[in-house]
Amino acid sequence: MLRRIVSCLMAASLATAALAADELAPGVRLLPGRFVAGEQPDGNTLVFDGAGGLIVFDSGRHAAHTDAIIEYARERDLPITAIVNSHWHLDHVGGNARLRQAYPGVRVHASGAIEQAMRGFLAKYRAQIEQNLAAPGGDAAQKAALRDELALIDAGPALFPDERVTQGVERTLAGRRLQLGLETRAVTAGDVWLFDPATGTLAAGDLVTLPAPLFDTACPARWRTALGHLAKVDFVRIVPGHGAPLDRGQFATWRSAFDHLLACAAGKTAKAACVDGWMRDAHALIPASDEKLARGLLDYYIDNSLRVDRAKMRERCGA
Ligand SMILES: [Zn+2]
Repeated sequence: MLRRIVSCLMAASLATAALAADELAPGVRLLPGRFVAGEQPDGNTLVFDGAGGLIVFDSGRHAAHTDAIIEYARERDLPITAIVNSHWHLDHVGGNARLRQAYPGVRVHASGAIEQAMRGFLAKYRAQIEQNLAAPGGDAAQKAALRDELALIDAGPALFPDERVTQGVERTLAGRRLQLGLETRAVTAGDVWLFDPATGTLAAGDLVTLPAPLFDTACPARWRTALGHLAKVDFVRIVPGHGAPLDRGQFATWRSAFDHLLACAAGKTAKAACVDGWMRDAHALIPASDEKLARGLLDYYIDNSLRVDRAKMRERCGA
């Protein structure tokens, strides 16, 4: 998996145009994350208006994405006073350090799972990057992207929460009343979702992703349970960690495609048929331009995350 992540790295989009902020509802903007084959992704960012400040849900990975968040706040002439991170993957927390530099008073709300990941998954990933950087050859842009990844990891505690989310809780951030949910050992050891009752917006992080679920650090069975918790929230729109917002009907479609995929992978059906099943079930949600990416992701995850031995599954799912 680490090798795949590193080998997927290509030139970061250095000159990405400023992201357009789509208004999903009054006081709720989406800054879409980029997710294309051959590049490390940025997660979606949501920005909520508060009283005298902005609340940012997920901070992106690449500088271009995070700078677009800062640029948006400057256009609004409002400081960013709170960040909520859905989970510790670098495409969701990577911008925390940059946002802290721009807004020293900002408070980060997240689960504490990143601290363990820093000693485990991210430490291994870091070592793999060091190896790749030390290898002779390789093109300069690729190496620059790897060095950017190292710098993100080396930001260390600047990525960590100031206020840990240890259970489902209501928090008033910048005067806006929000509901935070915590799922454990679903996509990661700690996944936070955010519900904004004023607009019916549910920010799901990577508990929902398009064009396919991303299983790198996931416990599939517990993830399925977590989706049941999301379904009980009284939302009108759910914003995935990657991909376009979904209404309730579209979420139900996604969820049933997810259930079918897990059931298929648990049986003896050929991998290609399980991939086809996802493409069929989730067809209405996947832009044609993302079909190849979706197939490539599932081809990898069925072998490396879903059809794995018990020891590996236990490591993800707990005892
Ligand atoms: Zn992600």
